[in-house]
Amino acid sequence: MIKGVRGAPDILPDEVGRWQALETMTRDILDRYGYAEIRTPLFERTELFVRGIGEGTDIVEKEMYTFQDRGGESLTLRPEATASLMRAYAEHRLAAKSSLVKLYLIGPMFRHERPQSGRFRQFHQVDVEAVGSPGPAVDVEILALLHHLLEAWGLPDTPLHLNSIGDRQCRPAYREALVAFLRERQEMLCADCHVRLEKNPLRVLDCKQPRCQEAARGAPTLTESLCGPCQEHFDAVRRLLDGLRIGYEVNPRLVRGLDYYTRTTFEFINPGLGAQNAVAGGGRYDGLVEELGGPPTPSIGFAVGEERILASLALREQGAVSAGATGVYVATVGEAVYAKALALTQDLRRRGLRAGVDLEQRSLKGQMRQANRDGYRFVVILGSDEIARGQAVVKDLATGEQVEVRLEGVGEYLRQVPEREMA
Ligand SMILES: [Zn+2]
Ligand SMILES: [Zn+2]
Repeated sequence: MIKGVRGAPDILPDEVGRWQALETMTRDILDRYGYAEIRTPLFERTELFVRGIGEGTDIVEKEMYTFQDRGGESLTLRPEATASLMRAYAEHRLAAKSSLVKLYLIGPMFRHERPQSGRFRQFHQVDVEAVGSPGPAVDVEILALLHHLLEAWGLPDTPLHLNSIGDRQCRPAYREALVAFLRERQEMLCADCHVRLEKNPLRVLDCKQPRCQEAARGAPTLTESLCGPCQEHFDAVRRLLDGLRIGYEVNPRLVRGLDYYTRTTFEFINPGLGAQNAVAGGGRYDGLVEELGGPPTPSIGFAVGEERILASLALREQGAVSAGATGVYVATVGEAVYAKALALTQDLRRRGLRAGVDLEQRSLKGQMRQANRDGYRFVVILGSDEIARGQAVVKDLATGEQVEVRLEGVGEYLRQVPEREMA
């Protein structure tokens, strides 16, 4: 039998409920903050990701699913959402509708990574972007939104690490100072960091190798080298966060390697997740749209891995997104009443209730077992005696309580059950 591809797991029916709950909750909160959903294709021209994610990054160099289509064009399965989203924003001139455009995307991403704990080749992200405004208020709303989402997902108090990585004015001088500092400790750096020192010295600061971390100890930080406007921006972000009582830690090691990233950079960290401990991360990327050939477009956003969130929840053993028993199962005694049972089930479904009925001629005992297994809260039992009297028995599986209800009144009766029990 042919097997699925390694690192591309199936999400089976008994897990889907958690995913749906997570996504429903997420859409609801994003809607409250004024974000609109956008759906872009799963593949794009390879060039979009090479320029939008950056040559020299691990994603572009080692991880992309790139192929030639039958027309000979090089296409790539999206390894992240930001580049696609910004392409769509520029291509469809969304800026004409509003100076600040708030967008989100939920869906699968693809990277050829070594399968290990918490890493998949097809994985799922919630990607959120606020496009068009340079001001610190947008940064703070984005952080407040992510803070709110984490709370709703059952991960309150996830520590926020915050940094400013400056801009085109102040970064070049800092970069020189950093390179000068690291050159003196070059022999301690790993092979990757030797390359980074030439191409991308900021990335040496977040290398996970202990000797590289040792070498970077005492290095000058960008936080100390910001130009006036960057400092003002960072101060305003911190002041507004304080006003919202959102706690954070300034982490000078939190950097991004590419030039189009600017100013505010952040991660929410779950220490329980091990080396890959960022639950969500993002920042400002005021130079990205220009990098793609569009007009200057200040933007900020973040991405969250849904697998990470679900794993963190499992870690905390929280039932926040698990569903209880709901709906009603219509059980029958004897074949004669089957047509009535089918009609009642359809009626209940039309009334908006989750309803099931036996399709396999099981015994009453077998039907009760099925109702339990499928997570129904109520069972309506129909026998020929009951039908003759125009009655049905309604049993609450949660309490064991059993009442006789007029047959035509079953839908009405179940609708009166408090919303929270039938939702
Ligand atoms: Zn290193
Ligand atoms: Zn600056």
